[in-house]
Amino acid sequence: MSRFWSDIVGKLTPYVPGEQPALARPVKLNTNENPYPPSPRVMDAIHRELGNDGDSLRKYPDPTARALRETIARHHGLRAEQVFVGNGSDEVLAHTFQALLKHDAPIRFPDITYSFYPVYAQLYGVAFDAVPLNADFGIDVDDYRAPNGGVLLPNPNAPTGRAVPLDEIRVLLAANPDSVVVIDEAYVDFGAQSAAALVDEYPNLLVVQTLSKARSLAGMRVGYALGHEALIEALTRVKDSFNSYPLDRLAQVAAIAAFEDDAHFRSTCAKVIASRERLSGELKALGFDVVPSAANFVFTRHPARDASALAASLKEKEIFVRHFKLPRIDQHLRITVGTDAESDALLAALRAVL
Ligand SMILES: *Cc1c(COP(=O)(O)O)cnc(C)c1O
Repeated sequence: MSRFWSDIVGKLTPYVPGEQPALARPVKLNTNENPYPPSPRVMDAIHRELGNDGDSLRKYPDPTARALRETIARHHGLRAEQVFVGNGSDEVLAHTFQALLKHDAPIRFPDITYSFYPVYAQLYGVAFDAVPLNADFGIDVDDYRAPNGGVLLPNPNAPTGRAVPLDEIRVLLAANPDSVVVIDEAYVDFGAQSAAALVDEYPNLLVVQTLSKARSLAGMRVGYALGHEALIEALTRVKDSFNSYPLDRLAQVAAIAAFEDDAHFRSTCAKVIASRERLSGELKALGFDVVPSAANFVFTRHPARDASALAASLKEKEIFVRHFKLPRIDQHLRITVGTDAESDALLAALRAVL
């Protein structure tokens, strides 16, 4: 606290990101990073942009990121006017709260979900109703029929990993014609159906994606939204009232290069999915309950072991997993799918602890 703080700053409860340990070789399964490197084309593009003397860095980047938006549009069969890009999808989501979710009625999102949503709601003064997931941690779209100021769902959901099929997303969109429905698809490429193909059909749909997870570029900070031109224009108006250049030159060329290497993207996703299935099976063999996952993490609990104590024991062995001290899920761990070698290290440590 300081007398220099604004009223709102003292009242904020900021989001706490997963730990980035300063260790040489931690087994880092706590922030859903991809265990595989990005496409080699990404490094080529960054070197090309830098040149020998880095002269391009003297100049501001393209504030509209036109070339990147065209690349993303082509990838999804849309037009560049239907694409917004931001400094990570977290920034895209923040602008969405400000531009499209701030109305009189409370917005709705699940009670167990990405814990940044209530933080943005607080920052921007957006009222919300947290809608309980069912007993199996599933989302019932019929729970989102009540009048609302907007609906926000991650698909697959985080931290549960459970996905909602596309026909239910259609039901949700049709039931909320007067609200913006935001589908946060940070993990969609690991096994869920994307709503990107519905953008032309539903003027109230905003699909948010990121290059941080499936495209191995968490360190570059690139996220985007797909939607009707009017929704994209609202986001652009907020962005241009906040920071005209959210994506630097290296991020823009790196992201374009990542989209140009579809083979690398597909093979990386396939490896993560295969490792997820293997890890889920091994955890079950150790007595864990594992929520079926369509993401690059598993959500799991051991019926006889305290989750927080398990996470602490793993940390002593330099293995990092995520534990949320929140109602309903404080006995669960969210474990990122790493390489098979990382899974083996985790499983060996769990066997020793159990
Ligand atoms: C990781 C994540 C994001 C944010 O990703 P960025 O790195 O900011 O692009 C957004 N939503 C969910 C549900 C996530 O798990």
